[in-house]
Amino acid sequence: MDAPLAGVLALQGDFEAHRKALADAGARSAEVRTAGELERVDGLVIPGGESTTLLKLLKDEKLWEPLRRFGRQRPVFGTCAGAILLARRVTRPEQECLGLMDFEVERNAYGRQVQSRVVRIEDAEGGPLEAVFIRAPIVRTAGPGVRVLARYNGDPVLMEQGLHLAATFHPELSAGRRVHRLFVAKLRP
Ligand code: GLN
Repeated sequence: MDAPLAGVLALQGDFEAHRKALADAGARSAEVRTAGELERVDGLVIPGGESTTLLKLLKDEKLWEPLRRFGRQRPVFGTCAGAILLARRVTRPEQECLGLMDFEVERNAYGRQVQSRVVRIEDAEGGPLEAVFIRAPIVRTAGPGVRVLARYNGDPVLMEQGLHLAATFHPELSAGRRVHRLFVAKLRP
């Protein structure tokens, strides 16, 4: 059987690094820029970048509603700005989101002083994990259906709910591939 095909939303952000990580984790990947391309993939990665811009581009490209429908049936993995889009509610400022996962997120919540940092976090199952934060959001509340897989300073930074996965950091920028493997495992359960 062919390896599963992971789509990577390629409107903005570091989609190349995700494609490399997915290949390392055993998946084929394809760039997604249109609703037609979205139909052909088994799941979708929404990379980091700038969520307001991503939101606008998704609407301009008529991908917003197709993506909402896609997420009811197939896995979506959002990192940083991508995680912001997956949320149920976004604050500071309020912004539209897909509501595919039941958490509330505050944008740019670590403040301007510390825009980026690389830290070691504890993943509940897999042991230590490197996490690269870049103007990261903070998850303020997560509903009972959300499984928190890792925390930093007590806040959820890696979460799973049903088909979906969200990271407020950038796993594609670290050498380890554990987080991408979690997503690849969801592509063909
Ligand atoms: N701060 C960005 C936003 O609010 C996210 C940053 C990132 O994806 N690295 O959209």
